Amino acid sequence: MIIGVPKEIKSSEYRVALTPAGAGMLKAAGHEVVVEPGAGEGSSFPDEAYQAEGASIASGTKDVWERAEMIMKVKEPLPEEFRYFREGLLLFTYLHLAAAQELTLALMDKGVSGVAYETIQLPNGSLPLLTPMSEVAGRMSVQVGSQFLEAFYGGRGILLGGVPGVPPAEVIILGGGVVGTNAAKIALGMGANVVILERSADRMRYIDDVFNGRIRTLMSNPYNIANAVRKADLLIGAVLIPGARAPHLVTEEMVKSMKKGAVIVDVAVDQGGTIATIDRVTTHKDPVYEKHGVLHYAVANMPGAVPRTSTFALTNVTMPYALELANKGLKTAVNQNESLRKGVNTYKGHITHPQVAAAADLPY
Ligand code: NAD
Repeated sequence: MIIGVPKEIKSSEYRVALTPAGAGMLKAAGHEVVVEPGAGEGSSFPDEAYQAEGASIASGTKDVWERAEMIMKVKEPLPEEFRYFREGLLLFTYLHLAAAQELTLALMDKGVSGVAYETIQLPNGSLPLLTPMSEVAGRMSVQVGSQFLEAFYGGRGILLGGVPGVPPAEVIILGGGVVGTNAAKIALGMGANVVILERSADRMRYIDDVFNGRIRTLMSNPYNIANAVRKADLLIGAVLIPGARAPHLVTEEMVKSMKKGAVIVDVAVDQGGTIATIDRVTTHKDPVYEKHGVLHYAVANMPGAVPRTSTFALTNVTMPYALELANKGLKTAVNQNESLRKGVNTYKGHITHPQVAAAADLPY
């Protein structure tokens, strides 16, 4: 199969769908890899690194899309890329079609088979191609939070780990899933006092077990949240209710009760946010705003700040599926792999995923 890797064109997107090592693996399996010039630049992979692994560098965007039988991308195609859609093309990328009707219709109209990273699902219900980005965002939330706690950035002027004779910072994390436990791990490593508020007792048992009691867990209820938030130097929002908007667990009154110069990092902002005073999404260029004396960080694409790490993390988990698709072709691959089958969102002009069909109000 010929696999094409275009350069991402979405604003502030520096990841790339394939590393040079991935190109080498596809090549070794007997496939051809065509990479757009500069596709890997944002993640510090020069064209020569792909060539060294046997990939060829295309003459431009059009050349990649026209030669490829399977296009591997990171973000959903934008309207200027729709012109390259054609019957039989296989597209393997994050698609988020439930929120993109124009793209859904373009894929259907041209008969493109769209396999979406975010709907590939393992038998235990987990979404393996979303997990690495939660790991990155969780770990990063403490890194950015500790930076904004510095006085120079408008924070309280606190060192997360304290020093002998001076207490460490209080890091309060709402939600102990992938983001929450990864945030906790870094905060603990930096010497902070860490508390996770969760609503799942089983999850708290797990956290207590793996961290050997060094992280305190508290049942997530308004009373405990209000008490914890008041003491927080760094508050991290990491709650997810699958398929629903994030609940506003922290009210404006609770934010008003926080210490001056404390920092909120609401990682769940992409699902609407867990903090009532997070009323807008911020960007890497202008990441924080101040409200009631508290710094609010609300960047929806946190992994974009560390594209090289994120590219490795993403491609580590996409590669086995990419190889399966390339080796067997879409039809055989999805017939043999139920998890991959759940990734198919469009096929031969039809929507093949129930939630996407419901969101677009189209037949499934
Ligand atoms: P997850 O499913 O692994 O964890 C969510 C946790 O929230 C679960 O343990 C669940 O029990 C808990 N929870 C649900 N309701 C709760 C409540 N009322 N109180 C306390 N805990 C509650 O999800 P995740 O992968 O950790 O993702 C968390 C959020 O981070 C999601 O909204 C995700 O989209 C977002 N995210 C954002 C970025 C970004 O760049 N901003 C990147 C990755 C993920």
